[in-house]
Amino acid sequence: MGAPKFRIAICGGGIGGLTLAVALSRYPDIRVDVYEAAGQFKEIGAGVMIWARTWEILTILGMAEDFSRIAHAPPDGSPGVGFDYRKSDQPQEGSRFYLFEVPYGCIRFHRAQFLDVLVDHLPPGVAHFGKRLASYRTTEHGASSKTELLFADGSVATCDILVGCDGIKSVVRKQMLEDHVREGGGDPCLLDHIEPVWSGSIAYRGLIPVSQMVRPDGVEHRTIRSPMMYCGKSKHVVSYSISRGSIVNVVAMASQPHLYKSMYAGPWVTDCSREEVLECFAGWEPEVEEMLKRIEKPTKWAIHELKPLPFYTQGRVVLLGDAAHAMCPHQGAGAGQAIEDAFILAEVLGHPHTSLSTIFQALAAYEAVRLPMANHVLKGSRESGDMYEFNGSLGDDLVRLGPQIGSQWDWLWETTPEGEREKAFQVLMATVAPAARL
Ligand SMILES: Cc1cc2nc3c(=O)[nH]c(=O)nc-3n(C[C@H](O)[C@H](O)[C@H](O)COP(=O)(O)OP(=O)(O)OC[C@H]3O[C@@H](n4cnc5c(N)ncnc54)[C@H](O)[C@@H]3O)c2cc1C
Repeated sequence: MGAPKFRIAICGGGIGGLTLAVALSRYPDIRVDVYEAAGQFKEIGAGVMIWARTWEILTILGMAEDFSRIAHAPPDGSPGVGFDYRKSDQPQEGSRFYLFEVPYGCIRFHRAQFLDVLVDHLPPGVAHFGKRLASYRTTEHGASSKTELLFADGSVATCDILVGCDGIKSVVRKQMLEDHVREGGGDPCLLDHIEPVWSGSIAYRGLIPVSQMVRPDGVEHRTIRSPMMYCGKSKHVVSYSISRGSIVNVVAMASQPHLYKSMYAGPWVTDCSREEVLECFAGWEPEVEEMLKRIEKPTKWAIHELKPLPFYTQGRVVLLGDAAHAMCPHQGAGAGQAIEDAFILAEVLGHPHTSLSTIFQALAAYEAVRLPMANHVLKGSRESGDMYEFNGSLGDDLVRLGPQIGSQWDWLWETTPEGEREKAFQVLMATVAPAARL
């Protein structure tokens, strides 16, 4: 094989970085290296859910069969429950106020298994562990410019394009914004976008074996069959089965809206006791208590998000996934958006008209398509959380709240990933120099 058309360094091997590596592996003329800070690829947390448009991407990338094997049930496109919304913040049995149904329903996985499928699809030799990026620098300018990656262990690597997939606390985002302001004369207000902001919410997360969710008389807990959204004032509980229906994943959220954008004191993720979770949701309907008292080894997460960035790319450096648009989890969308970033970025980089001389146009095409959508989902995710907790404009007017919650999901079907790819190609082709098109 001849020299690659360019070398791409992916900083961070989470869901976003690994999907990008898999998507780029379809182009033999692109060299890919994944630099991961940890000693191995790993996911923390419990469940992760995706929607039909993300499933479409995994199918295009040739991974549907493998993901089918580890989903809650093999996805077949038939209509399914997205979420069953109940009013639950009272001791009496609650009631449904809205049923959100979509093709495929909500497709659910165990996070560790999800990452394993991506790792299995990685080509050999691309992963480098223990490589925590400390900073980067561009050594020359023009078509022959190279980016040097400086790692915390003192080692150095070079690439043509650096993709920051390094999560919500991204080092790449920090340097990109600092360079833009200090060397590029950019608006100093952009420095406020470096640090994530606390949403005012904490999430208790944990798993429960399904066997513990069946009463002695054989009655199953509702959430075994249906993804549930138990709603109440300033709190809500999400639960759904994963791993072929053998485990229930629980995320119980408690919010202090007045603390939105304040500084969270303490570590973002800690262990906590089951008693703390039960105390937080005391007085909720019986099926919530039944579930929470079975939660195993709960952990407590301070939920942060990014202020929407005005750009995702500068020069030959580009952001993807949580590094670009970390969002609250209320639409189950952060991983799906990272996967969609990876799909579109790989498609524009692999396009026959993308070369080192048209790389800026390719990265601009990625940004033109992905930034408006991902920033829209970022904003919508927070708004949805407010609605689930009766803190939106409709409060607890449940009759009107249901449809309002439903319309928050319009982005799921207003476009398709394939349509978005076409849009990116059109932007690319409209901007590459006529000579490059010959
Ligand atoms: C409670 C909760 C529930 C959620 N539920 C869902 C859901 O159901 N569906 C959904 O779509 N999304 C969900 N999300 C969001 C989703 O988890 C994230 O959006 C997604 O995992 C982001 O993936 P990523 O690859 O961009 O970043 P990350 O997963 O954070 O990966 C970043 C990687 O970069 C590495 N790294 C970091 N710094 C460096 C460095 N300096 N050098 C090298 N490597 C580095 C890290 O070790 C890590 O491997 C949820 C989030 C939370 C908090």
